[in-house]
Amino acid sequence: MYSLDGKVALVTGGSKGIGKAIALALAHRGAKVCINYSSDDKAAENTLSELMEINGWGMKIKADVSDTDDVKRMVATIVKEADTVHILVNNAGIIRDSLLMLMKDDDWRRVIEINLNGVYNCSKAVLRPMIGEKWGRIINIVSPSAIMGRPGQTNYAASKGGIYSFTKSLAKELARLGITVNALSPGVIETELTKVLEEKVRREFIGMIPLGRFGNPSEVAHAACFLASGESQYITGVLISVDGGLT
Ligand code: NAP
Repeated sequence: MYSLDGKVALVTGGSKGIGKAIALALAHRGAKVCINYSSDDKAAENTLSELMEINGWGMKIKADVSDTDDVKRMVATIVKEADTVHILVNNAGIIRDSLLMLMKDDDWRRVIEINLNGVYNCSKAVLRPMIGEKWGRIINIVSPSAIMGRPGQTNYAASKGGIYSFTKSLAKELARLGITVNALSPGVIETELTKVLEEKVRREFIGMIPLGRFGNPSEVAHAACFLASGESQYITGVLISVDGGLT
């Protein structure tokens, strides 16, 4: 089940955390996986080595997803090396939390540019190859903040809520072309992004999670593999939460 033999996947922010777990899981199911990242060459190199060990294929491309030209170059490189793109996981994301009163303009701007404009840039760039294949999977990583809201996260929640609405509309645009578009919402997952949480905040979160613990990246990756596979072909425009019951 969920075989991805012969498929080519791009995972943005695939060098670490949730993106890395998704990239490795897609490779385990037979996909040729390209990971994207923006700054940490060492982490990307390590993930690339792990990909190569799994199925002998891998690519890493440094590109800022908020930069339209960078993204066009990235997708052109993948098409040149691997012929096409079948699966896009829009995972790259940042947080810059602050109460709105104190929020720096740049923190609002960068979160929207990377999280939301990044999804626009990458989705648009892969459409031509996916339409050519008459088959595609776009999986957008969102967040419980988009659904529940959270103090200090107006920028992040707006970016993720925007991605959710984008998902619903694009799913309708592409349904007749064999391309599905879905959102995946991880709960609180153990990654670099959440390492910075204070102990008090960790305890507060765990108290809100019916399953009583944070998730791990591989638990999100299982759901991503299902959405990337042929078995999910009648599912489009939905949001699947992998959050221990949080939402
Ligand atoms: P992470 O460990 O901080 O990894 C983020 C990844 O994104 C890295 O590979 C990073 O590469 C890349 N990245 C950052 N800015 C980029 C840019 N401008 N262009 C291209 N790549 C960029 O994050 P994570 O916790 O795995 O989160 C992954 C996604 O899940 C995010 O969209 C996040 O909002 C979402 N999410 C996470 C949680 C959670 O609890 N962790 C919960 C809900 C949703 P470099 O380091 O090289 O820049």
